[in-house]
Amino acid sequence: MSARILDGREIARDIRADTALRVAELTAKAGIVPHLVVILVGGNPASRVYVENKIRACAEVGIRSTLVTLDPGIAAQDLIAEIERLNRSPDVHGILVQLPLPPHHDIQAVLRAISVHKDVDGFHLYNVGGLVVGRTIFSPCTPYGVMRMLDHAGIPVEGRNVTIVGASNIVGKPMALMMMARDATVSVCHAKTRDLAQYTILADILIVAAGVPRLIGAQMVRTGAVVIDVGINRDPQGRLQGDVDFDAVRERASYITPVPGGVGPMTVTMLLVNTVSAAERIAEGGRALMLPEQPDGGPGRLTGRPGADAA
Ligand code: NAP
Repeated sequence: MSARILDGREIARDIRADTALRVAELTAKAGIVPHLVVILVGGNPASRVYVENKIRACAEVGIRSTLVTLDPGIAAQDLIAEIERLNRSPDVHGILVQLPLPPHHDIQAVLRAISVHKDVDGFHLYNVGGLVVGRTIFSPCTPYGVMRMLDHAGIPVEGRNVTIVGASNIVGKPMALMMMARDATVSVCHAKTRDLAQYTILADILIVAAGVPRLIGAQMVRTGAVVIDVGINRDPQGRLQGDVDFDAVRERASYITPVPGGVGPMTVTMLLVNTVSAAERIAEGGRALMLPEQPDGGPGRLTGRPGADAA
């Protein structure tokens, strides 16, 4: 058996075309151009590349974007003040703080400062916690992208054994919660898991996000499994590779994602989707949910759309 390739670039292209239509419709009907502000603190070269990718992707679908570059030495309270200014700005629909931040910043405090209604990365404590009870406003982009890929390919999730290798806050844990919300039976593995293969071999859907090249070999994969490789690593020649031994595993799996060209393009695409959803919500004249502790909060109305971004 040779697995079918889940082509993230192709699926992302379809979703981006749909997103561009949503932008055009919103502009025509409500005169609103969705606007994403990306905050980059310092000049980390990798972060700069990621930010440039996001800004290019915004332009492709007609989303306006602004890059705010801040000095790496900016005081914690000044960064928070900048975020609060953007929270109040009516023409900003999405705010993203590019991580990592210089060590003198408390990342959780910074993420919490972003209005939940503009938290298009889905990293605010409310949106993270909301995954537990199905009340999230924005889902984190990478796991959301994985769900959309599976849905696009018509791969069912309900009742399937899903094993997730990696338990980070941005990929593994939210992925597990999103899979549970769709009635999968979920195992989550991490660096201290003993005998990883005994979990991976059970998986109907195996999602790997460990950041360890070739962690998953063919003998660890059940025949016919769907294998999603989130990992991005560089080999000694500087080429990108995932966490899965692609050539060997594709002979066992029914579907597999390549690296590059798999989950990566989906992640940026879901950022675009979340930004357009944020602007659409404003155009509908209300917000999905008001939270009293939000600095830009206040009495609002329920739009009946909580979880609209959940996969
Ligand atoms: P992370 O924060 O470093 O977390 C890695 C997770 O993998 C941790 O839970 C760790 O376990 C676990 N792990 C490490 N070695 C392991 C091993 N040998 N066996 C089992 N589990 C192991 O990384 P991340 O941010 O989640 O990212 C993971 C990978 O995905 C990276 O390669 C990253 O570049 C990539 N990524 C790709 C995208 C995309 O768009 N394609 C987006 C985000 C991340 P402990 O918790 O026990 O330490």
